[in-house]
Amino acid sequence: MDTIILKRTSLNITTYCNLKCKHCIAFIPYYKDKVMLSYEEAKNILKNYFMVVDKVGHFNVTGGEPLLNPDVCKIMQEVFSYENQISTNIDFVTNGTLELPSELLDLFERWKGKSKIILSDYGKDLSTKIDKNESLLIKRKINYRISKFYGDNLYYDGWIDFTDHSLKWPDKESRDNNSKKCVHSVGQYYVINEGELHRCSRSFFRMKTGIIPKKQGEYISLIDNASLEEKKRQLKIMQESISTTSCAYCVGLCNNIPRVEPAQQLGGGKQHEENRDNELLSKNE
Ligand code: SF4
Repeated sequence: MDTIILKRTSLNITTYCNLKCKHCIAFIPYYKDKVMLSYEEAKNILKNYFMVVDKVGHFNVTGGEPLLNPDVCKIMQEVFSYENQISTNIDFVTNGTLELPSELLDLFERWKGKSKIILSDYGKDLSTKIDKNESLLIKRKINYRISKFYGDNLYYDGWIDFTDHSLKWPDKESRDNNSKKCVHSVGQYYVINEGELHRCSRSFFRMKTGIIPKKQGEYISLIDNASLEEKKRQLKIMQESISTTSCAYCVGLCNNIPRVEPAQQLGGGKQHEENRDNELLSKNE
């Protein structure tokens, strides 16, 4: 069977988040039915992913806000168990609003040669635990990075507004041409959402919400009954394609696209706080 090597994959372990970023690249505030991946579900997805994919360079764990997932430590432990198939790094991305639990720090301390915690910093009003988390990470000598999304040093000069899902590139040639400029497409990034492997979270969102049809060869299910051979065949098709249907509805993660201020909160102010409380309440129900 073909050997499959990917550069990067992100596993989304929840679509719950305690922020409501209007321009979230994963469209998290726009999902109506939120998902919290259980340990058993994550274990099954990881097992199937690492059967289909022989090696991956970077493996990220994200959300939503992954610290809201009560199984986060067990899931991370499971990810680290595939360390021999992850050639470069295992990253964990959190939004700086919650304190890193010591059980999670134990894991990252143990695997410090091959892991990193990425703290997204949206400023003092939102990412209130940046300083606390940074001091915990320094104390344990755990690798970390702070991605600052405010002030003069906006990470990558701001975010891109992907919320317009209208058709932009009607023919394959124009779609391919734009996709060739998209960092996500060129870099062959992949994401796993709800057990499906996609080229990007825009593709997953547009299929899930019916903006585009579900099409074999543009995603693969890591939880259906298709044979391993068939999954590898479909992934090869994905690797070889320049663009997918989703790219036709997308400005792309391209350098020439105007940027917007990161982490603008839907609802804002008090409304934002109410949204956040409701989110947490419904999670705990
Ligand atoms: S153009 Fe859009 S849909 Fe296509 S890979 Fe890039 S970000 Fe994803």
